[in-house]
Amino acid sequence: MPKPIRIAIDGPAASGKSTSARLLAKKLGYLHIDTGSMYRAATLAVIKNNLKPTDEANILPLLSSTTIELKTENGNLRVFLDAKDVSDSLRTPEIDHNISQFSALQGVRQLMVDKQRELARNGGIVMDGRDIGTVVLPGAELKVFLIASLEERAARRLKELSQKGIEADFEIVKQEIARRDHIDSARTSGPLKKAKDARELDTSRLSIEEQVEHLFQWAMEIIDSKNQDCK
Ligand code: C5P
Repeated sequence: MPKPIRIAIDGPAASGKSTSARLLAKKLGYLHIDTGSMYRAATLAVIKNNLKPTDEANILPLLSSTTIELKTENGNLRVFLDAKDVSDSLRTPEIDHNISQFSALQGVRQLMVDKQRELARNGGIVMDGRDIGTVVLPGAELKVFLIASLEERAARRLKELSQKGIEADFEIVKQEIARRDHIDSARTSGPLKKAKDARELDTSRLSIEEQVEHLFQWAMEIIDSKNQDCK
């Protein structure tokens, strides 16, 4: 049997990465790692400790004494910060506002990248983020870069917030997404960038089911060709 493959899915904010990665992983029987949720949980710890997202000198000791764990329960990823389930507190405007400055810190990225590589060690994984195909798993067998128009991404984010009872303004959500993309793309360490060998998928006009179907076909082409090689 060939080793299960590693699938890296990157793209800008609200491009559909986490949802399609989760459903793709379920379809393949693979593990899903949403690296954004790791950065989100760490940002929550920073906010709770009243630190500025740029205060690297105090953030690094805090992170080394903090545990962030991901567990799959009934097919859904749950995130634990110091053993407390914080999954439902990670997509708030406050975290969105602070996370990109925090994630640009070189020491933070090194810690996260090491953890993520460890989680992917055995393959059979769908990992989504910003730097997965370029930095975390440059040898991933399938790399995908998801894109969607800013308008569409803001509409998705607004819907997600409203489902949680958080009322927000479309223009403000749009500006916040554009601001986050800008900081994520401009940083020197692990910027948001399409890997040279990534396949691009524009999800603007695709339903979640259609996105997952595209990704599943691409994954199966690679898995089938590996199976042929083993015969
Ligand atoms: O994917 P999500 O929108 O939840 O990511 C939240 C933020 O976490 C991003 O805007 C980015 O600042 C940071 N992030 C990152 N590298 C990753 C995943 C997320 O810098 N691999």
